[in-house]
Amino acid sequence: MTDPAAGRPQVLRPSILTVDDDPGVSRAVARDLRRRYGETYRIVRAESGDQALDALREMKLRGDTVAVLLADYRMPQMSGLEFLESAMDLYPAARRLLLTAYADTGAAIDAINVVDLDYYLLKPWDPPEEKLYPVIDAQIEAWRTTDRRPVPETKVIGHRWSARSAEVREFLARNQVPYRWYSSESPEGRRLLDAAGADWQNLPLVVTPDGTVLTAPTDGELAGRVGLATTPSSDFYDLVVIGGGPAGLGAAVYGASEGLRTVLVERLATGGQAGQSSRIENYLGFPDGVSGAQLTERARRQATKFGAEIITTRDVVALEVNGSARTVRFADGASIDAHTVILATGVAYNRLGAEGVDEFAGRGVFYGSALTEAPNCAEQDVYVVGGANSAGQAAVYLARSARSVTMLVRGKSLAESMSYYLIQQIAAIDNITVRTQTVVGAAHGVKHLERLTLSDQAAGAQEIVDAGWLFVFIGAAPHTDWLDGVVLRDGNGFVLAGPDLSVDGAPPPGWLLDRAPYHLETSVPGVFVAGDARAESAKRVASAVGEGAMAVMLVHRYLEGL
Ligand SMILES: Cc1cc2nc3c(=O)[nH]c(=O)nc-3n(C[C@H](O)[C@H](O)[C@H](O)COP(=O)(O)OP(=O)(O)OC[C@H]3O[C@@H](n4cnc5c(N)ncnc54)[C@H](O)[C@@H]3O)c2cc1C
Repeated sequence: MTDPAAGRPQVLRPSILTVDDDPGVSRAVARDLRRRYGETYRIVRAESGDQALDALREMKLRGDTVAVLLADYRMPQMSGLEFLESAMDLYPAARRLLLTAYADTGAAIDAINVVDLDYYLLKPWDPPEEKLYPVIDAQIEAWRTTDRRPVPETKVIGHRWSARSAEVREFLARNQVPYRWYSSESPEGRRLLDAAGADWQNLPLVVTPDGTVLTAPTDGELAGRVGLATTPSSDFYDLVVIGGGPAGLGAAVYGASEGLRTVLVERLATGGQAGQSSRIENYLGFPDGVSGAQLTERARRQATKFGAEIITTRDVVALEVNGSARTVRFADGASIDAHTVILATGVAYNRLGAEGVDEFAGRGVFYGSALTEAPNCAEQDVYVVGGANSAGQAAVYLARSARSVTMLVRGKSLAESMSYYLIQQIAAIDNITVRTQTVVGAAHGVKHLERLTLSDQAAGAQEIVDAGWLFVFIGAAPHTDWLDGVVLRDGNGFVLAGPDLSVDGAPPPGWLLDRAPYHLETSVPGVFVAGDARAESAKRVASAVGEGAMAVMLVHRYLEGL
């Protein structure tokens, strides 16, 4: 089989595929097609039905379009009709043409109904200007008016109620990797599964723009295939930033722009909590608000523009002090060294402890993934647990597509925990209901969440409601367990820094330097903390970014003293 486009960068040219078991005829058809259509179409030639189907499967996975299929009627292993019938499963919109000898005309006419044939061409087709091109022109025209153009993109085929399918989509979305979602039960989802030779047991299936198929990939495998760096390029840096939320991205931008060899290590996706916010309205310079995804994408670009390395899907599990070097160890045992470290590990959502809820995580119960799941909630009744700004933003966002949004708030009123502007917004949206003093008692369902038991604490009453969607935003705890015994933390696990470390004006235990810790410096010299992970931090995007910048200024001060 020849493919004139092989080796060239991927282009969005649709294909015309021709299959004939006689190599001479096959070459002649391809030659004539190429002469007239080669500029705008890829001419793909095969010499058997199997070979042609293999080519189509590959093309399907790559996201190529196929305008016309031209098959010889008489082929030994697989007839042209059998081929067109199978090809229909992969490319239903492609125009189907049969190439027949005069003697086979009757069979071709019969086939019009069997494979929904669009045309049959008689051999020989000389001169092509009269007998071939007018037919193909008309078929291409018909195809152009009916076909939907796919664009090269990552495709995710999964089940709506599969937790891992939800995680994969969340991972791609939060890393700003454009993808298209196909339910495994949709016709196109089934076509893609067939093309990859996979079935529901292999879900979720990810097909990258170059056609590579990944079966139930881990985040690390996925990252590597969709263009996210996962391995540091060096083993020594001036600065390692741990965590890619606003504080970490801020530190990376300032560190790299001020000439420090900087690497940022993120376990999941840059953006952190802010990346999950549908609209940040109080960040300076964005009077109309900005989505967390936009802010993250810009910050990421800014950091890399200045030369910061960004490594994703690497979990930092240990910090060691080796003389003047600070060693940062990953979950797989690998490590990198640096003069300085900024801890920007933020906080993670608290889990809802109610009976049965954990069982449905990713299958109706979601922590912070309101943005990715919102399109699936169209015209559905959804529940949001929490009374702080994050829950309020999620409710406002979900209310755009959902039929109804019910906020379940433990407190007596939203005013106890939510910004005034958001309370006003919620009050003005008709399809949001706020139920105060109400908590989730239990979650029920078979394969996915179907019902919730709600406890009205004021009335002391319980009620079971139908519910397929529950979004939980009930506060967060710091990601700092792995620092136990290395840096000092407060009783809730938040990292102590600067003046908070001193007891009655004395430096922290083990502090050997003849200066006090700098403002954001932890109990380990050269290791700083910024953002939500710091004890007594403001828990705001602006303050996290500001602390990231300030920590870099203190890094310079520390390096000058080395
Ligand atoms: C839905 C939502 C809406 C919000 N809206 C607003 C708003 O409108 N205005 C506002 O000012 N604030 C808002 N906030 C709060 C704000 O997002 C946070 O204060 C801010 O994101 C904190 O930034 P951070 O960088 O300190 O931590 P985080 O954003 O929590 O980021 C920490 C990052 O570190 C990574 N990480 C953790 N441990 C490790 C490890 N061991 N190895 C590698 N990586 C690790 C995490 O995966 C995470 O990406 C909102 C928060 C949420 C959840």
